[in-house]
Amino acid sequence: MEGESRNFIEQIIDKDLAEGRFDHVQTRFPPEPNGYLHIGHAKSILLNYGLAQQYHGKFNMRFDDTNPTKEKSEFVESIKQDVAWLGADWEDRLFFASDYFQIMYDCAEKLIMKGKAFVCDLTAEQIREYRGTLTEPGKNSPYRDRSVEENLKLFREMRDGKYEDGTKVLRAKIDMASPNINMRDPVIYRVAHMTHHNTGDAWCIYPMYDFAHPIEDAVEHITHSICTLEFEDHRPLYDWVVQECEFVQPPKQIEFAKLYLNNVVTGKRYIKKLVEEGIVDGWDDPRLVSISGLRRRGYTPEAIKMFVELAGVSKSNSICEMAMLEYCIREDLKLKKPRMMAVLNPLKLVIDNYPEDQVEYLDAPNNLENPELGSRQLPFCKELYIEQEDFMEVPIKKYFRLFPGNEVRLMNAYFVKCTDVVKDEAGNVIEVHCTYDPETKSGSGFEGRKVKGTIHWVSARHAVPVEVRLYENIIDEEKGVYNKEDGSLNLKPNSLIVAKGLVEPDLAKAEAGEKFQFVRNGFFCVDTKDSEPGKPVFNRIVSLKSSFKLPK
Ligand code: ATP
Ligand code: MG
Repeated sequence: MEGESRNFIEQIIDKDLAEGRFDHVQTRFPPEPNGYLHIGHAKSILLNYGLAQQYHGKFNMRFDDTNPTKEKSEFVESIKQDVAWLGADWEDRLFFASDYFQIMYDCAEKLIMKGKAFVCDLTAEQIREYRGTLTEPGKNSPYRDRSVEENLKLFREMRDGKYEDGTKVLRAKIDMASPNINMRDPVIYRVAHMTHHNTGDAWCIYPMYDFAHPIEDAVEHITHSICTLEFEDHRPLYDWVVQECEFVQPPKQIEFAKLYLNNVVTGKRYIKKLVEEGIVDGWDDPRLVSISGLRRRGYTPEAIKMFVELAGVSKSNSICEMAMLEYCIREDLKLKKPRMMAVLNPLKLVIDNYPEDQVEYLDAPNNLENPELGSRQLPFCKELYIEQEDFMEVPIKKYFRLFPGNEVRLMNAYFVKCTDVVKDEAGNVIEVHCTYDPETKSGSGFEGRKVKGTIHWVSARHAVPVEVRLYENIIDEEKGVYNKEDGSLNLKPNSLIVAKGLVEPDLAKAEAGEKFQFVRNGFFCVDTKDSEPGKPVFNRIVSLKSSFKLPK
């Protein structure tokens, strides 16, 4: 591990190991099962898992399910699937914070016994008033000096269901004058008569996050509890809890900056609304940056990992561009996937001097830059389809594709020269006629003359019509994510365009999730939700054009 540059978390871990504070490394990913994971969570997952691997340590998967209001089993399943798909292996360490409710309860009694916690009858509003502000200290609760016996009796009655929601809480007794508001006698338990997705009705009191989380980490022997920056001010409380509950080898909290993507929606609240209003096709809509949406769109775990690594680990917030994520998927797929031909806006091309009934099978390399991908046989005949934009009746400057009198190469096939066009009544070109030169077959070593343009095509007789989905950002980038007046999302119309494409016959057999490059049109993935055997629906993952430059 020497030689390379170390990020600040690695430096902390190196030091902790060198000084003997810990003799191993154990990390965790602790999502709350209240929604689907997104690209930001991927950063946390890969960071925690990566550190465990790098230090030959362990990685735990733990659901932080201490708040029954918003949590659902549906989310537990989707989160497990997403974490596993990203390649983070928790082996046999799948945990639920709710499994530790008894331990947390016992810790609370321990604090009471030590005179470090008390039952408080102030209302939520009063607690807020007593808390003070950033510039003024708080005031002690009138219940702060209850005896240990009274506190213990009241807390047990809270547990036994004697009190209504909101009438009593358990608070840590720390310091109402602390400059850190989190240390001003924070609430650590509340009464909530709610059914929990895991423990059912066993409990009617639930621990607060700041109390529960350090205990969860300590119970699992986590060494480095990595979280995002907004918890920095909570660290003194984290340390207080593990110390006062007397855990040996207390875990250490380390904060890093969240991953933000420019002009992208990640907030659960907003995505939920888009789903409920039917604006997107569920949480895995390919326009979303949920992990399941990215997977359905055709992103790979490798690309997401590359993206997260390029984004780096830091203490200061920064915003990444979607173009960087797109760069990563292109990099990942460009040598791995075959380059096939698909025509998205078909225009008929007729080769007048090609025999009517003849079909030739032409050898086409699957990926010129990676011979290991082999080759395939492409059917070729008199009538083909080319892309509309590959023909211009009156060419613009520097247009090297097909126009009357010009000769181009049909990819993997022959040179063709445009001779004529057929128009409909409105004057639109509906058919292009050409002649081909049999001497110019690709791979034949023909060197007689050169052409400047190569265009792709499919055989009209063999091509298969398929649905192709072209996606744009769902957000109108010119306006930004949120409407300044009402806080709603600035949605872009037409962020999904459904086209009818014509593809090489081999592509009709493509299976759900399979990925390809379509020459000039981008990278595509067979949709896993709407494809049927023999009837693939293709999602465009990303186009081939890129404005992104790798930072030096
Ligand atoms: P959101 O508010 O975006 O829906 P969350 O923070 O409520 O996310 P949690 O389930 O609490 O979701 O998060 C699980 C873990 O993922 C936490 O450790 C959290 O710090 C981390 N995390 C969440 N969002 C990001 C992000 N944008 N970048 C990096 N880590 C993140
Ligand atoms: Mg959260």
